[in-house]
Order: sequence, then C-alpha cells, then structure tokens
Amino acid sequence: MAIKFYNTLHRKKEVFKSIKNKKVGLYTCGPTVYDLPHIGNFRAYIFSDLVKRYLLWKGYDVKHIMNITDIDDKTIKKSIEQNKKLKDITEFYITEFYKDCNSLNILKADKYTKATSYIEEMIKMINNLMKKGYAYKVDGGSIYFDIHKFKDYGKLSNFKLKDLKTNAKGRLNNKDEYGKDDVRDFALWKSYDKEDGEIYFESPFGRGRPGWHIECSAMSTYELGKNFDIHTGGVDNIFPHHENEIAQSKCGTGGDFVKYWMHNEHLLVDGKKMSKSLGNFYTLRDLNEKDIDPIAFRYFIYGSHYRNKINFTLNALSGAENALKKLREFYQNLPVVLNTKKINKSYADKFTKVMDDDLNTSKALAVVWNLVKDKKINDSSKKATLFYFDKVLGFDLDKKVDEIIPEEIKKIAEERELARKNKDWSKSDNLREEIASLGYEIKDTQDGYKINKK
Ligand code: AMP
Ligand code: ZN
Repeated sequence: MAIKFYNTLHRKKEVFKSIKNKKVGLYTCGPTVYDLPHIGNFRAYIFSDLVKRYLLWKGYDVKHIMNITDIDDKTIKKSIEQNKKLKDITEFYITEFYKDCNSLNILKADKYTKATSYIEEMIKMINNLMKKGYAYKVDGGSIYFDIHKFKDYGKLSNFKLKDLKTNAKGRLNNKDEYGKDDVRDFALWKSYDKEDGEIYFESPFGRGRPGWHIECSAMSTYELGKNFDIHTGGVDNIFPHHENEIAQSKCGTGGDFVKYWMHNEHLLVDGKKMSKSLGNFYTLRDLNEKDIDPIAFRYFIYGSHYRNKINFTLNALSGAENALKKLREFYQNLPVVLNTKKINKSYADKFTKVMDDDLNTSKALAVVWNLVKDKKINDSSKKATLFYFDKVLGFDLDKKVDEIIPEEIKKIAEERELARKNKDWSKSDNLREEIASLGYEIKDTQDGYKINKK
C-alpha cells in the first residue's frame, strides 16, 4: 500500500513517491544551540524520527541530515552576555542535545551539520544569487534577498505577496525570526556589527556572518543535492524560515528544491505554544528530576496526530507513562522467546494502513492495544508483532521495567528530601533504610537525588 503524507506546500495529503527509487533524502531543521531545548522542540525531533523510522520500516534507504544552528542572533547574544567563546556555548548544548535525543530513543541522524562548518557553501550560494540578480548589497555591506523577484514567494505559507502591505515600514528585515505581518526582503549576509564581538567570517562581500535561512539551504543542498524528498520542522518554521529557504534555493538552482514539506503542530501549555519566551516550558531535565521516563513523552505525543496541537500537562504525561509501563510489562512477561518470523499479518496490515495514512499514531496505538487484548492471538505472535511495531514507535519495549521507580518509593524519597531540607538527619537516614528495605537505593547528587533498583 502507498504511504500518504500531508504536504504543506499543496495543503493536502499526497502519495509519497521518492525522487530516486527507494532512496529518501530527509532534512530536519535542528536545534539552535544557545540553551537546552524544551519538550516542545522535542516534539519536532520525535516527529522527524517517526517519519524516518516509518520509511525505514517500509524498506526505504533514508539519508537523514539534521542541522545544528551554532551561529545566529541567539547564539551570538548568549556568548556575548556570558562573556564566553561562541564555541564553548554551542559545544556544551550540542552535547546535551545528543544526550537528550538518545534518552528519547531518537535514531541518530546520518550527519549533524553545524552551520559554522558550511560558511563557504553559504558564501557560494549568496554569490550566485547576487550574480543572478536575486540579491543586492546595501550600504554597510549586508546582502538581502529581493522577495519580489521570486514569483512563488508566499506559496508555502499560503499568502500572495501582492496582497500584503510589504515594505510599508521600510524595505529590509535583518532579524532571523519575524512574523507574516513583517514580510520584507531578508538578510542573506549580515555585515559585521560591533555587537557581534569577535564573531565574524571573511567573505567576498566583506566581514560578517550568514543569515539563519541561508544556513539550511546551503547545508541541505550540499548534503542531499539540489532536489531532495522531505524537509521537516515545526509549523512555526513555515514562515519565514522555510519560505525563505525555498526562495533562495529555487532561485539559486532554477530547479525544484524539496518535494514534500512536512510540519508538526505545536505542543501547548494552557492553550499557548510552549516556548522559551513565554517561560512555560519543561526540559527533559525537568522530567528526569520528576523521575519520568523520557520515552513516556513519545507515548504522550503519539496520542494525537502530529498535525494537531497538543496541550501538555504533567497529569496527562503521567497517564502516558503508566500506559507505556503496562505495555512494556505485558511484552516482557510474555512467556515466549522472541521469534521475529511470527508476525501476525492481520495486525501488521491494520498498523500499516493507519500509519500509511499520514502517520496516524493514535490509531496505531489502538491497533497495539487491540493486539495485546486479542485472546485469539498466541503469545509468540504477540511478541513478534509488538517487536515489529516497536521499530516504528520507538518505545524500547525491552527497557527493564525495573528501571521504572514505583510511586511508593518516589513518595518516600520526596519525604526524605523534605527531611534533609529541614536538616532532620535521623529521619532522613531512617527513610533511606526504608527505601533500601524495599529493594531500592537512593543517592544524593549535585542535581538532586537518584533512585536505582538494587
Ligand atoms: P528552534 O530551536 O526554535 O529553531 O526550534 C526547533 C524546532 O522545534 C523547530 O522545528 C520548531 O518549529 C520546533 N518547535 C518550537 N516550539 C515548539 C512547540 N511548542 N511545539 C512543537 N514544536 C516546536
Ligand atoms: Zn532550518
């Protein structure tokens, strides 16, 4: 059966047909490494992981590139505020990002491309756009893209340039991020400003640094070719980032760029987008501190379609964690040895049908639980079929259930923490012993306490 993906470019589901037989080029806009990502950001990375896992499962050979934005307005601002070298800031957050991806069971990209390693490619692309008349230099040395020269500008974000009051307040936009009400020519190259401190590159257009949008155009094209299959990101990336990527790339090459644009909706808190600026966010560290298995977040977001907004609450996450735990317990307690050949065809077909339909994970979860409950299917088939589905879902069904700390133990640990805060050392010791008598040990670390099964 054919896979159908919703293509933002045409605002409809389309049959997926890779450009080259059974080979897929997949590009994901990765993190800007100036801070820890929040779990809203991870919704975007779990989404691209799901796209990739599903294509691999269907037998495609996927080349996945994820960029790391290690130079932009935000990273520079942070390095200057903290009086640290840009690299020291970005390398720290890159390492943390890899750790978080690992704990979420996100498959490694084939390559993580750092923007600072592709400056030459960006310069080449800008040069080409200048030569072709799509870009121009202003006083001061910055280079801008002339959006009126690209007739399809606005197609991805669904607006017509002529209907917008562009240039009402001047002609240029040198910010990396801006809204649709601020559509203007955007910066390809930002000439050096003393606010950039020691952060600059030399180029034929003078000293400066690239704009954010050209980074992704240059890296994706260099790694995947001028025309590749899928580009993913969150819906906030549609404008201006992806709109600008299309403009730069199509005008540069004169040909096609991305075949399928796929975007995940936002994770919300109290009806508002989870974001750094609103301060309404959780990081994976916050979840770790609450001893929540990060993969429960995967389960949680699969409860809704990727194109629907999801309201995040700790309560709902805890529900997802319980369901995941039950599923793992069921899988691990099946009294059979895994034989991957025993896949139940009828359930495999049901799963494929709903996932083929633009990755309908909530229906896929229903298929999983129907299989678990189906008395007509033997244990061996259940084990093999769940294992087969897990390649797509990424729940790590083999993860030791023991690693999941029971609520009762967590409660005693919290009580002990309170005793410690009140400097009631004898109570704290007694509670430690109580935890030990129940088969767990508690360790105090710099980031708080940790509980492990003995
Ligand atoms: P940024 O680091 O801001 O470029 O964001 C990284 C990725 O996370 C992008 O694909 C964003 O679209 C996505 N994103 C940001 N906030 C959210 C959110 N609240 N829910 C889902 N995706 C998000
Ligand atoms: Zn990007």
